[in-house]
Amino acid sequence: MAENVFDKILAGAIPAPRVWEDEQCIAIRDINPQAPVHVLVIPRTKIETVDDVTEQQKGLVGHMTWVATEIARREGIADEGYRLVWNCRRHGGQEVTTIHLHLLGGRSMKWPPG
Ligand code: AMP
Repeated sequence: MAENVFDKILAGAIPAPRVWEDEQCIAIRDINPQAPVHVLVIPRTKIETVDDVTEQQKGLVGHMTWVATEIARREGIADEGYRLVWNCRRHGGQEVTTIHLHLLGGRSMKWPPG
């Protein structure tokens, strides 16, 4: 499996300041932010898409969701609200084939998404 940008960030080969780090995941700011706050939560365990998450890994996904909510509180966007997004494969708009949870906030979001 070829290394992608998030593999390289996790390995420290590409610098990306971490807004969160624990034994299960890291969080970084998106390089091309789509909102005033745009953070990506990335697991240390390699999983290609959210469709590949196994039952044994469902706790990791729950942990990543909690981390995103904690970052939202720290960033001061929790009271107004925010959006959490999992893009999955081609129709979901997934560009990097390592699961990552988008936290977007600091502005009002539109619905439906494009
Ligand atoms: P997705 O379309 O869900 O796969 O999202 C991938 C995201 O990774 C995009 O929002 C990109 O802007 C972001 N991204 C790509 N390279 C980097 C990087 N080096 N550091 C931070 N974010 C990145």
